[in-house]
Amino acid sequence: MSDIPSQQTTVIVGAGQAGSEVATSLRQQGYTGRVVLIGDEPHLPYRRPPLSKAYLAGEADATSLLIKPRATYEKAKVELLIPAQVVGVNRDASRIELADGRVQTYDKLVLATGGRPRPLQLPGADAPNVLTLRTLADVDAIRREMQPGHRLVVVGGGYIGLELAAVAVKLGLKVTVLESAPRVLVRVTAPEMSAFYARVHREAGVNVRTGVALQRFDQQAGRVSAAVLADGTRIQTDVVVVGIGLIPNVELARNAALEVGDGIMVDEHGRTSDPDILAVGDCANQPNAWLGRRLRMESVPNAMEQARTVAATLCGKLQAFRAVPWFWSDQYDLKLQMVGLSQGYDQVVLRGDPSSRSFCAFYLCDGAVVAVDAVNRAGEFMVAKRLVAERVRADAQCIADEKQPLQALLTPASMATPS
Ligand code: FAD
Repeated sequence: MSDIPSQQTTVIVGAGQAGSEVATSLRQQGYTGRVVLIGDEPHLPYRRPPLSKAYLAGEADATSLLIKPRATYEKAKVELLIPAQVVGVNRDASRIELADGRVQTYDKLVLATGGRPRPLQLPGADAPNVLTLRTLADVDAIRREMQPGHRLVVVGGGYIGLELAAVAVKLGLKVTVLESAPRVLVRVTAPEMSAFYARVHREAGVNVRTGVALQRFDQQAGRVSAAVLADGTRIQTDVVVVGIGLIPNVELARNAALEVGDGIMVDEHGRTSDPDILAVGDCANQPNAWLGRRLRMESVPNAMEQARTVAATLCGKLQAFRAVPWFWSDQYDLKLQMVGLSQGYDQVVLRGDPSSRSFCAFYLCDGAVVAVDAVNRAGEFMVAKRLVAERVRADAQCIADEKQPLQALLTPASMATPS
């Protein structure tokens, strides 16, 4: 039984992956107060990963993206205010203000506002055929431009750009990826993995150009007709999609004088500098016990874990957020799963041959496994998650030797003390 007064009201701002999970987790954890979930998109909460995969490819419809059917929210007595935009938080009066003038008081407030695509500040980038990819509406706009034979320039060789490129080239578009860094996926993988993905895309017909400086877009009749690089190269195009990162939606928090940095600062229980206001998901910057430092993470598993932590906090069951970061990306026939953070490592060990399209990259730091990228190795990925969580010490030769099962590394003697 919860000791939360049943008349208490929790308002959740942002009806995405995290907000939806907070709402239903509250009920699962015994919360008896009012739960109000407010979102500014005209949809029930939906999953974003398929937006750059099956939905973009036309293999999934919008209904299949819904995280839960409407009946689940009704059964859980979650009051949905959709679409409605929250424009202000008045902490003195404990209430939020909606764009249409309505107000809603709260006892506890959860900010689950996600983020928005980082805009490209270049001459010509304001044309209607320069698009971004975050929402269902964004993908519907992209799909209208994705005619076979059309030329597509993707700005940014991160996950979203590469997933988009993979779908587009399969649909018969002529795709160019422009990446300013010397390699694709530079922020999240080792050079070996970047080289593998660049090669796969090139073999599929994508023109992957790394280390390029995009200078401007030329327009014709109000639409971008070419991307122009600093060296003068002009790449003719019919449509441009920009995938250069996310800006967390922190404005509500900042305007309410909450502590904000790269995201809304929360403690290990999800509480902001005002204990009645919590934050969760892509917009939140939280201490990560496994990592030993703060992290703002953009992934579904992170949003889900943080949401459950926040729901527990609101139910008076304080439990520190401990999850090890993990993520996945689907491109072509390749399922990439990544656990840990491939930063600060001193050795990369490959297990399996990339040319077989099934292999892992292990990231070691002082002999301990700190991250693993697995390509088409779902079974080994499950073991890898434990190796990373426990920072197991492992010999590089043993990791690389495919005759030895990975489970053999999970011996108590091989455990390093978690830092
Ligand atoms: P969101 O899902 O963005 O939800 C936030 C919601 O709050 C939005 O609907 C927003 O409109 C709303 N909102 C914001 N401000 C207000 C306001 N003032 N009033 C009312 N509502 C507001 N992750 C993975 O782990 N694997 C993947 O393969 C993967 N692929 C992805 C592909 C794409 C194309 C995208 C865009 C993301 C992908 N992600 C993936 C990331 C993942 O979807 C996000 O990490 C996750 O959605 C974060 O959930 P969230 O609830 O924090 O934010």
